[in-house]
Amino acid sequence: MPKLTRHAVLLTLGITLSCVVASGSVTMLWYELNGGISRLDTLIVSTMIPFTLGPICTLIGVRGRQKIQEMALENERLANTDALTGLANRRAFFTQIATPPRDQDGGAETVAFILCDIDSFKSFNDLHGHDVGDHVLKHVAHLIQSSLPSNAAIARLGGEEFVVRVADADRLDLDSLAATLIAKVAETPLRYENERFKVTMSVGLHITTADADPDRALRHADRAMYSAKANGRNQFVRAA
Ligand code: GH3
Ligand code: MG
Ligand code: MG
Repeated sequence: MPKLTRHAVLLTLGITLSCVVASGSVTMLWYELNGGISRLDTLIVSTMIPFTLGPICTLIGVRGRQKIQEMALENERLANTDALTGLANRRAFFTQIATPPRDQDGGAETVAFILCDIDSFKSFNDLHGHDVGDHVLKHVAHLIQSSLPSNAAIARLGGEEFVVRVADADRLDLDSLAATLIAKVAETPLRYENERFKVTMSVGLHITTADADPDRALRHADRAMYSAKANGRNQFVRAA
């Protein structure tokens, strides 16, 4: 049984004592009016029954409430998580960045959006099946996530697209971060069922301020990513 909180113990005691008082009063009234039962019976009825039933009923109620709270938290987690990769999903990403942080001078801090799109991803599905495609997605998600600085947030936007948002971006060499992510993916093939699958991705980088419209910022990063595709893939382009 999970550890009972102080609140639950106090609630149990309170309800039990209330039951004892209520039951005792009714039984004593019965005794006064009818006199048909002994004082011992009165004592047993007015204490033993509520002392037994009170905690049981309260514990069932408290446990039920805990279960509902746990289910609500789990539902919230599922609604914010991409089931395949375990990363934040698009919804969670936009909620997370909705409140722009301020830098020490009170101005909006510099942030970078890095949009990563796996190159020719459809061919993994078409040539090797969706199972391999899914493993490619998990593999790339892990590689990107494990190469990020602590002030970066990552999400799977959908399909084979991932977005990274780096806070406090003026302290970092973002070109070199984008190049590192690309190199990490290109140099780490997926090993799955005795096969090696070489994966590359194209990246669009857009630098802006934290109070900029996130949709607009992503559009800039997306356009830069498509320029990287047009330039031959497996590279990054920084939005002007
Ligand atoms: P490009 O280099 O131009 O980005 O081409 P691409 O093949 O990577 O992109 P395209 O948009 O043509 O194909 C993306 C494919 O991703 C199509 C869709 O069926 C597949 N896909 C989307 N979500 C999933 C998923 O969760 N698992 C798998 N296995 N495939 C997915
Ligand atoms: Mg795409
Ligand atoms: Mg793609």
